[in-house]
Amino acid sequence: MKAGRSISSRLTVWFSSVYFAGLALFGIAMWFNLEHTLNQTRARTLERRADRLIEVLRKTEADSPQQREKKFRAFAEATGGGLMEVFQSDRSRALPSPSQDAENFPWPESVLAGHDKDSDTYTEATFAGQSYLVLERSWLSSSGPLILSVAAPLEGNLTLLRTFRAGMLWTVPALLALSAIGGYFLSRQALKPVDQITAAARSISVMNLSERLPVPATNDELQRLSETCNAMLARLDFAVAEIKRFTADASHELRTPLSVIRTLAELALRNPGADGDSLRAFAEIVDESGRTSRLLEEMLLLARADDGTAHLSFEPVDLAEIVRVVAAKARLLAEGNGHTFNISLPAAELPLVRGDYSTLRRLLWILVDNAVKYTTPPGSIHIVLNEFDGMLILEVRDTGIGIRPSDLPHIFKRFYRGERSSNRVDGSGLGLAIARWIADTHQADLTAESQEHAGTTFRISIPTLQHSSQPLLTTTRSFGPPDRRPVSTCET
Ligand code: ADP
Repeated sequence: MKAGRSISSRLTVWFSSVYFAGLALFGIAMWFNLEHTLNQTRARTLERRADRLIEVLRKTEADSPQQREKKFRAFAEATGGGLMEVFQSDRSRALPSPSQDAENFPWPESVLAGHDKDSDTYTEATFAGQSYLVLERSWLSSSGPLILSVAAPLEGNLTLLRTFRAGMLWTVPALLALSAIGGYFLSRQALKPVDQITAAARSISVMNLSERLPVPATNDELQRLSETCNAMLARLDFAVAEIKRFTADASHELRTPLSVIRTLAELALRNPGADGDSLRAFAEIVDESGRTSRLLEEMLLLARADDGTAHLSFEPVDLAEIVRVVAAKARLLAEGNGHTFNISLPAAELPLVRGDYSTLRRLLWILVDNAVKYTTPPGSIHIVLNEFDGMLILEVRDTGIGIRPSDLPHIFKRFYRGERSSNRVDGSGLGLAIARWIADTHQADLTAESQEHAGTTFRISIPTLQHSSQPLLTTTRSFGPPDRRPVSTCET
């Protein structure tokens, strides 16, 4: 499954985008606000300068022209660096320029209407490569209307705005990176319980439905999600238990009528008055009911294994003895089917294993029975038992039809039958599922190696008594589902 982008990274992208948009809007708003405030301040400075110029002009009305010019120049130099002029309404200078700069300055040519303070006009001008704000004010003096022009450089404002913009260009990405890292880290922390819940949910299957997801005590959506999942698991657990109980009960209940049918058919077979067709039908009934009995018995065993009511008594068991016992019966079966049959046991006595005698015998029988079934005569069946590294290794080898690589991973599943065997060979598909369950209860490994048209080897590795942690004389519960363990390998 292709892993999509995690919630954490998506949240980080969303959060960072919103944060970036917010920062950008804030920066732009701040920039305009700063520009407006600086312009206002500059304008107010010019207004105050014009007010004071009017005062100077008013106070010097009675002075001689020279004295008036002198005071005007002194005021101009002291305040605006000499950048002011007093014009008459025909734009001729009412007073000489107070400085060279004032004389050369590109004063605007506007004609002002009105004679009060409201008629202040602002313009911008460029002089000697610098920007200036220019205030023009009309004033009605005792000698007639005058136009006062005052200028101040805007350079300070522009420098401040440039510094602000550069600051924003550095701080916005830095803040963005910081917030993205912080946001990602926080969302990872917040979503950590989701990973734990996912891992726990993944480990739950139909065989361990009684397990529950961890519930974070966070009193939030995650807590509610885990609680809801746990409630769902409880319902599933109950439903599956019901199905298992039903399977066990049905298998159990069907056993008696089936054996009655079989007994009746066997009795009918012995009836000397029965005609040929009836005898064939009765023989068929005996055969089918025998097969169905075996199937029911296998289903019952697996159902008990699932609900933990299969009773096994663990005790020290001699596996070599089991091999000999099974071999005695298997030899008849194998040789009766046209195969050669061998067993190989080491000369030295082997250590015991901890297990349930009859169940282990059943495990070996399932494998030998399959070996006979899936080998075309004349073939060879070989049982080998060895000790290796604290384990007993029991192998059932055949020279049979082999298992297709596509079938191999599935053969331990319940009711799974290989493609070629399902039509040609009698069976239910439960034998290896039972074998795997028996192996699991004995802490043994059951694996299969097969080569098509050459043969199959089933291998059981079971710990010796010394190396087993299985307690003696215990009642087992069901173990993990047989088809969950990837132990089959295939040679091609
Ligand atoms: P059944 O034998 O009743 O079909 P099993 O669970 O015993 O069911 O086996 C499952 C499948 O594994 C069989 O249908 C068959 O395809 C394959 N199989 C098992 N043992 C052998 C073997 N020794 N050789 C070839 N195929 C085998």
